[in-house]
Amino acid sequence: MAGTIIVNDDRCKGCGICVEFCPKKVLQLSERINIMGYHPVELISEDADCTGCGICALMCPDWVITVFRETKKKKEEVAGKS
Ligand code: SF4
Ligand code: SF4
Repeated sequence: MAGTIIVNDDRCKGCGICVEFCPKKVLQLSERINIMGYHPVELISEDADCTGCGICALMCPDWVITVFRETKKKKEEVAGKS
């Protein structure tokens, strides 16, 4: 996984915009119900192929999603490969 997201569950209104716009199709509405009575969005699985592109966070009208990207490999690791 090159990226992942964290959803602020209780602020998600389950509109599905992020689900529609995710280019990797790794988002779905959860079966859980949040404090507002909506189904919050979630990754389809723990090892979902999220790239960390950030489109879902950009499209969300309520700033519910935080995106994390995997950092580049340490210099030593890269050097060790050659
Ligand atoms: S960061 Fe990109 S790939 Fe990951 S869930 Fe959001 S839109 Fe999909
Ligand atoms: S766009 Fe935002 S409010 Fe709508 S389902 Fe996605 S995270 Fe929830």
